[in-house]
Amino acid sequence: MKNSVAKAQPLPNISLKDVGGLGDEMKEEILQTLTTLKDKERALKLGIKPPKGILLYGPPGTGKTLLAQAIAHELNASFFSASGSAFNELFVGVGASRVRSLFQAARKQRPAVIFIDEVDALAGRRKAHGGEEGEKTLTELLVQLDGGHSNDGILFIAATNRKDMLDEAFLRPGRIDFSFHVPLPDTKGRREIIDIHSKGKAIAKDVLTSLDGLAESTSGFSGAELFSLFESASRHAVRNGRDMIQKQDLDYALDRTILGSTSRPLQDH
Ligand code: ATP
Repeated sequence: MKNSVAKAQPLPNISLKDVGGLGDEMKEEILQTLTTLKDKERALKLGIKPPKGILLYGPPGTGKTLLAQAIAHELNASFFSASGSAFNELFVGVGASRVRSLFQAARKQRPAVIFIDEVDALAGRRKAHGGEEGEKTLTELLVQLDGGHSNDGILFIAATNRKDMLDEAFLRPGRIDFSFHVPLPDTKGRREIIDIHSKGKAIAKDVLTSLDGLAESTSGFSGAELFSLFESASRHAVRNGRDMIQKQDLDYALDRTILGSTSRPLQDH
């Protein structure tokens, strides 16, 4: 697993349409960012520097990975993805050499997106991070991000649930140019995500007409939980010999999701 960080991963056919609940403002910002990357020459002429690095931060399961995949897809880029913890090593220098290999591999397959999930494990505050190995790995990441023209055609995307843990040096413009907050979806966002994950599934009419209510009653649910809600309802329908998701399947899935999520904040959206 750890050795595979320097290989491009096959990219699922995900576009921005598959990411729900981003809100109009954020969607517009992302589209503008993508335009500056796609039409770099024009952007530069107009004095806009296309971003080199983007940070996506927000609670787990809100679609940060999905969004990174959608961005790579829109840019027609190869996708290199790794978790920050894949660079944590006991032996000094191993994490740093892994960071180097990752950037070298991506440079060979431009345009490329390098996506690092849980980046706090790699770019956490130096003091909190501790240890010579962690320090060296972070320094190497900063060196690679500062690669100048050698990073042309490379977009670095990092994701975290703990933006507050990140080292200030990592967040500096030129390394991270934009930070996007990806929050838990509000009612409208949940309705969009429900649409995305119910599409293509056989669903009874009375359930279909109750989906607005479902969006309202699932306050605090993440996109990942809404996804697993429909997966669980489908499985329950199959197990009970039904050809479509009925109300009892969705009720069963709702109970399971609510029981399974002990960490959901008690907030209204
Ligand atoms: P983590 O912080 O735990 O890494 P994440 O924010 O990267 O989570 P994803 O891994 O992108 O979340 O989400 C997992 C799955 O949940 C997605 O593949 C998708 O099926 C569903 N999902 C999550 N958020 C959304 C969303 N905003 N729109 C549509 N589907 C979503």
